[in-house]
Amino acid sequence: MDCLFCKIVAGEIPAEIVHTTERTVAFRDLNPQAPTHVLVVPKDHYANAAELAAGAPVAAAELVTAAAAVATAEGCDDYRLVFNTGAGSGQTVFHTHLHLLAGRAFTWPPG
Ligand code: 5GP
Ligand code: ZN
Repeated sequence: MDCLFCKIVAGEIPAEIVHTTERTVAFRDLNPQAPTHVLVVPKDHYANAAELAAGAPVAAAELVTAAAAVATAEGCDDYRLVFNTGAGSGQTVFHTHLHLLAGRAFTWPPG
């Protein structure tokens, strides 16, 4: 499958990997929107968060615990986790990824 994040998981495209677990890989976003902006992806391909949760619930939970571990490692107690789902929400890569954003103040509601 021609998938950017599958290629990062496979090591075929370089990325700054900051954390790995049995089922996940976390790497820095190429176009960071906060001082800490890390993407946590499952090693297996699922198009979005709901498909991951339905097909691999342990991996879905591991995305969250991995994101929390990265936040702790970066010294951030407060952070935002985002799953964009569908092009209308801003999803551009259809291999599910959890955005970890931290290191600045965030507004609510999001834009
Ligand atoms: P989405 O818009 O799908 O929620 O998030 C995709 C994210 O992937 C964007 O924040 C974008 O900056 C990031 N991204 C796109 N291509 C690459 C890449 O080749 N390497 C890395 N590290 N991040 C990427
Ligand atoms: Zn993929």
